[in-house]
Amino acid sequence: MSSPLVQTVVVLGGGSAGLMAALTLKRRIPHLQIRVVRSPDIGIIGVGEGTTAAFPKHFFEYLRLKPQQFYTEAEPTWKLGIKFLWGPKREFYYTFAYEYQHRFPELSRNSGFFYTPETQYAGPISALMAHDKVFPRRADGLPHFHNSHAFHIENHKLVKWLEKVCREFGVEIQDATVRPELGPEGITRLIPENGPPIVGDLYVDASGFRSELLGRALDEPFMSYTDALFCDRAIIGGWSRTDEPIHPYTIAETMDAGWCWQIEHESWINRGYVYCSNFISDDAAREELVRKNPKISNEPRLVKFRSGRYQRFWVKNVVGIGNSAGFVEPLEATALQVICVEASTLADSLVDSLCAPNPSLIKLYNDYNVQAWDDIRDFLAVHYKFNTRLDTPFWRACRSDTQLHNAEFLVEFYRENGPSVVAGAQLLHQSNSFGMDGYLAMLIGQCVPHAKPYSPAPQEQKIWHERLNTWAVEARRAMDVKQALEAIRRPGMKWG
Ligand SMILES: Cc1cc2nc3c(=O)[nH]c(=O)nc-3n(C[C@H](O)[C@H](O)[C@H](O)COP(=O)(O)OP(=O)(O)OC[C@H]3O[C@@H](n4cnc5c(N)ncnc54)[C@H](O)[C@@H]3O)c2cc1C
Repeated sequence: MSSPLVQTVVVLGGGSAGLMAALTLKRRIPHLQIRVVRSPDIGIIGVGEGTTAAFPKHFFEYLRLKPQQFYTEAEPTWKLGIKFLWGPKREFYYTFAYEYQHRFPELSRNSGFFYTPETQYAGPISALMAHDKVFPRRADGLPHFHNSHAFHIENHKLVKWLEKVCREFGVEIQDATVRPELGPEGITRLIPENGPPIVGDLYVDASGFRSELLGRALDEPFMSYTDALFCDRAIIGGWSRTDEPIHPYTIAETMDAGWCWQIEHESWINRGYVYCSNFISDDAAREELVRKNPKISNEPRLVKFRSGRYQRFWVKNVVGIGNSAGFVEPLEATALQVICVEASTLADSLVDSLCAPNPSLIKLYNDYNVQAWDDIRDFLAVHYKFNTRLDTPFWRACRSDTQLHNAEFLVEFYRENGPSVVAGAQLLHQSNSFGMDGYLAMLIGQCVPHAKPYSPAPQEQKIWHERLNTWAVEARRAMDVKQALEAIRRPGMKWG
């Protein structure tokens, strides 16, 4: 039996997931007819402000969009990683670069073995972060962009930019609150309160936590992550920037019953406390957030969530993308990255199947995306299991009860062998988005003990310290976020 041909796609939801899915499909398969349906009454979640390095790759390499329009409309600032106030060290840096596994020819092992609790950074990108700098300065005064950057973007500006680009490429956007009708092959049509039914060959469910099609209509089972990730709420506030420097990183700070992000926008600083309601009340969480951030000027807003994913994402003629497919807290700001992966694998599946996807392709799509979600759960679990910074009931429970799932053996290997490069190739599959370097940043950063500490001979010590000094000198000469923003706004800026 031949697979049905996909010619029209209906995307339910106009948040970042729906618009990113619509844009990705339209850009990759221009002949597809794509309509986004979004409810003006329900609105969008309106949070989601940090990205990973997958975001620029998706938009500027995979979709080949022009960065200039993005910078003008979405007004991002740059993020090189996360500064963790976590574990016994005062701070450590997680980057999107390859630093701990890097092996210099003149040293006997990779950098992870040379990093000590006193070391502030492990490579040029973490050195930039430690000096509050973002890009090296070119001779012409412009920033020398490197590939290890992501963005901080205010959610409403991102959505506005996405909407504009979607329309430019021919995506239709319709305002309507709809309910689905179900048949044996999946969704038959979406019924708006007013107006004719909306029909497609494929329905992308990007309806956020409501999961109208995948969760509610098709009743796909939800797989909870609560044995690894205990938090279920966030309270969010912020204040207008005055003279604070614009940090080129997100801060993740340990709190009594969870952790707090600090996200840097050009004129707004966004703080959010992610916590577990079994360990702290909403009022107490609000009080802790405001006490530790007395500059908060707005009324903090509460968001409830559950961590987990649906068993499958592509079921019959429905593909769930974004919060309607799954959710984990933004400790590594992975939601937009997951949307990029989901949208690009869907587009590639349709391209390769000549828009007639068959069951084996759909199974592969599901397996691939299940792995991407579970990888995030496992990586975040390592953040909770080993954070010894506070001795509160919440953190004691995290250290004793967090399940590491597929990261269990990797951690055991680390405990026995330290930051060995042998691990990278063997312990993680190729598409793991954090890679061994991400795991090493968290294990070394949190000072998880291992059985093979290395004491370099004086000659090697000297070479390593020369490296650290070189990175520090280069970082001091580099540009901060404010200078880089000014430079790209100067007339004559040439975008590569
Ligand atoms: C506290 C918190 C912090 C976060 N921080 C980050 C972060 O730093 N980085 C990151 O990448 N992500 C973050 N996220 C996640 C991020 O917000 C979302 O993953 C992302 O914005 C995608 O949301 P969405 O489009 O799936 O859902 P939504 O924005 O909720 O959009 C749902 C859409 O569906 C529509 N809809 C629903 N039902 C109907 C209906 N019946 N009829 C018509 N339309 C309907 C709505 O109108 C809306 O347009 C965070 C999330 C939370 C909760």
